[in-house]
Order: sequence, then structure tokens, then C-alpha cells
Amino acid sequence: MRILLVEDDPMIGESVVDGLTAEGYAVDWVQDGNSALIALRTTPFSLVILDLGLPGKDGIGVLKEARSQRIHVPVLVTTARDTVADRVQGLDAGADDYLIKPYDLDELYARIRALQRRATGRSEPTITRGRLVIKPETREVTFNDEAVLLSSKEYALLVALAERPGVVLSRGQLEEKLYNWDSTIGSNAIEVHIHHLRKKLSDDAIKTVRGVGYLLET
Ligand code: CA
Repeated sequence: MRILLVEDDPMIGESVVDGLTAEGYAVDWVQDGNSALIALRTTPFSLVILDLGLPGKDGIGVLKEARSQRIHVPVLVTTARDTVADRVQGLDAGADDYLIKPYDLDELYARIRALQRRATGRSEPTITRGRLVIKPETREVTFNDEAVLLSSKEYALLVALAERPGVVLSRGQLEEKLYNWDSTIGSNAIEVHIHHLRKKLSDDAIKTVRGVGYLLET
């Protein structure tokens, strides 16, 4: 899952990037409003963490402009401003959730999981697809009731496929979900991860649609 962090405070930015990366997310970080809008127009993020107080265009301006351009990505607003009026303004501008600074990283992760759950139309925390069960809270995966140990990229790839059951995702789409701008991606990186997933789950767990991409068999 690919996240855009919009944060002008370098200390907070670095700690959030480190934390999210350790949690297995692909993260891109920009530090002003205009860069955020360019990023949102060019990259299909799964979620945005948006600070409100930014140099240049502020967070509310970014949010309004993104929504007016029909960019529907879930947005979690973070801010040190803590008045009811600020929160109402943020939510009315199109934010999906709100976190007051300073915030705890564990709470940030929990809110990300909740937003992702809502964005993919789940009400229960567990993702169940036939023999496959994924628990995002602990990143535990079982297949045929047996625990499966996955690398963070394998896990991210499996979740990307499991969130869109029966939908074929192309190599390019999967790369965009797994890697940030700074990554050097080998031309067969996705194929290699798919190969490993099949070995750890079963050969028929992920189907190749020749010339198109991959889908999860449920
Ligand atoms: Ca700020």
C-alpha cells in the first residue's frame, strides 16, 4: 500500500516515514502543498496523511483542490490546531479522519488500517478470501489454516490482490502500490514476488492472465 505524507516538519516527517516503512508501507514524502497536488495528480496513492499548516498552499487548500479534481483518495488530516472549527473545516473540505498533533504512531497505524478498511468496503478487520485469511492488525497470514511467513513486499502484494478479488492487476499497477519514487525496481520484481507467494501459498493461489496481469483465485 502506497501512502503520500504531506508534512513540512522534518522531525515529524522523518519519524513517520521511518515508522510507516517499517510497517511495510511504501511512502512518498512531500513538504509543501503544491508538491502534494502534483503528487496526487500523477500517482495513485491508497491514502494521504495531510498536515494542515504548510508553506504555500495550506492543507485545506490542497484538500479542496484535490476533491474538486475528483481525486477521491482517503485523506487523514493531521494538525496542531485543535479547535472544533478547524476540525469541522477539515472534514467539510473532504478529509476522512483527523489526528491531533502530537500523535502516537500506533494510533496513526490504527487509523490508516481503519481508513483502508472503509475504502475497500470492509466492515470487519480481517480479509478472508477462500482459504486465505489476512489480519492487517498483526500482518498475520494463514492459508488452509496454516500460518504463512511473508516478506513485507510479498505481504503488500498479497493484500493488493486480496483487496480486489477477481480483478486483474497489471504489473505496473502492482509496482505503483509496492514501491515509492525512490525505489529502483527490477524489471521482474513483481514476477519474483508472485513466484515466492505461489511457493508459500499454492501454485494456483494467484492466476496469471497472460499479457494483462495477475488476480487472486478465491
Ligand atoms: Ca506544519
